Amino acid sequence: MQLVCLDLEGVLVPEIWIEFAQRTNIPELRRTTRDEPDYDKLMKYRLDLLAQHRLGLPDIQKVISDMGPMAGAKAFLDELRRRYQVIILSDTFYEFAMPLMAQLGMPTLFCHKLEADANGTLVNYHLRMPDQKREAVKRFKELNFKVIAAGDSYNDTAMLGEAHAGILFHPPENVIREFPQFPVTMNYAELGAEIDKAGGKI
Ligand SMILES: [Mg+2]
Repeated sequence: MQLVCLDLEGVLVPEIWIEFAQRTNIPELRRTTRDEPDYDKLMKYRLDLLAQHRLGLPDIQKVISDMGPMAGAKAFLDELRRRYQVIILSDTFYEFAMPLMAQLGMPTLFCHKLEADANGTLVNYHLRMPDQKREAVKRFKELNFKVIAAGDSYNDTAMLGEAHAGILFHPPENVIREFPQFPVTMNYAELGAEIDKAGGKI
């Protein structure tokens, strides 16, 4: 049995924080782990900013819903799910991703959780576990699945390495250079073909 694990942001939907910063005109929200390597500090900073701008969960979800998935993502995923069991492994949060999942036909998503108070203001975040993408692939292998994983960035490389086959999708130049062991695909047709090729080998 073959299982495909897909990253979400940069593969099926835009980078949520970056796109959100643009749409709300809050450039400070563009800060990423590259600017602030301490993830806890970064998240507290983001949640503070959202509260300062009085953006509660319903407002945030409205903005995210308007983003929509990437062009062609829904058709690609529908087609892939006919041939494989597909699980999306992401470091985003359910509360952010759900408006986009609805537009993708509600595929299975493993990610993290946010906590809102009664007014809808986000007050905290909860990571289900550290390094969950790689851990999930490990467990699927223990369940006797052959795993093909695809993602676009650094935070996917551990999962790609753990899988029986790892594939990069539309990655930045530096990731291509640093991880030459993974085939590079630039669009959904190439990704689908590379998944089938991997599926034929593992
Ligand atoms: Mg990504």
